Amino acid sequence: AAKQAGKSCFRLFDPEHDRASRNQQEQIKRFSSALENGELRLHYQPKVDMRSGRMIGAEALLRWQHPEQGLLVPGQFLSALESADLALPLGEWVLGEALGQMASWEAQGLLINISVNISSQHLQQRDFVGRLRHLLTAHPRVAPSQLTLEILETSAVEDMAQVSQVIQACRALGVSFALDDFGTGYSSLTYLRQLPTEELKIDQSFVRDMLKDRDDRAIVEGVISLAHTFGRQAIAEGVETLEHGVLLLQLGCHLAQGYAIAHPMPAEQLLAWQNSWMLPDEWARAAKASA
Ligand code: C2E
Ligand code: MG
Ligand code: MG
Ligand code: MG
Repeated sequence: AAKQAGKSCFRLFDPEHDRASRNQQEQIKRFSSALENGELRLHYQPKVDMRSGRMIGAEALLRWQHPEQGLLVPGQFLSALESADLALPLGEWVLGEALGQMASWEAQGLLINISVNISSQHLQQRDFVGRLRHLLTAHPRVAPSQLTLEILETSAVEDMAQVSQVIQACRALGVSFALDDFGTGYSSLTYLRQLPTEELKIDQSFVRDMLKDRDDRAIVEGVISLAHTFGRQAIAEGVETLEHGVLLLQLGCHLAQGYAIAHPMPAEQLLAWQNSWMLPDEWARAAKASA
């Protein structure tokens, strides 16, 4: 209580701090009511093999159906929630929601692999592994091997030793990992060796510009060859055009995600999308030519 009093004393002289903490209180309240009112949801974006057209899984992406502001994407609210210390409840909600959705697909006879984005605060939480195990146990219909956790390359290297330990413990449960936005951080060979992730996701900024920018193309090629050298899967993000896909196939990367394939969508649309999507001829031809 003394500490509490000391704090409010300090705040009397610091209107900036006062405003900041009021905003935080505000965020916490809004977030709690968003959770209670079911305003948070996950959209799913398919990941495909551009050689066969097969959907290999989907990435769960957070959305906030705000009562006044409409559908918000993470760029509009995620950092505010994280700085208000809500990364953990949010992360737990996302994991639970994704596993629940996977279980409900399983009940319909559909085995769908899902990738979930994990913040570094969440991953580095005490007993992350225990809580993940608990969640997996609560969803016995879901095989741990159906779940991939995506962590940002930049945050994975902040505390390499710990992150690498957590990864190994989660992999022992059967869960896979992806290094997200790969190429935007250090991408050092030593780091890569210490972070045993199955997937490297080539950041969309490089993919977007690789057709006109030689440096970006060189980075894409570098990540693909790095992945092959280390026995990882390379997957390209931000594949917006058929030309992107063709070049990626020529460069030896056949896994892709992006608007050229599908935008993120509500769970209930995924199956219909999967049933109606057709592999573009350009990709089938490019895959054959580079086989
Ligand atoms: P990310 O994990 O790298 O996800 C890919 C982002 O690229 C998504 O943005 C997706 O909608 C967008 N995208 C997909 N295809 C294309 C394309 O062809 N072109 C372009 N320009 N963009 C494309 P979104 O959904 O706004 O998410 C942004 C970031 O927010 C994610 O980047 C991820 O880092 C974070 N995020 C999303 N959901 C969660 C979550 O549940 N938890 C946490 N901790 N972070 C999340
Ligand atoms: Mg991601
Ligand atoms: Mg990414
Ligand atoms: Mg990103």
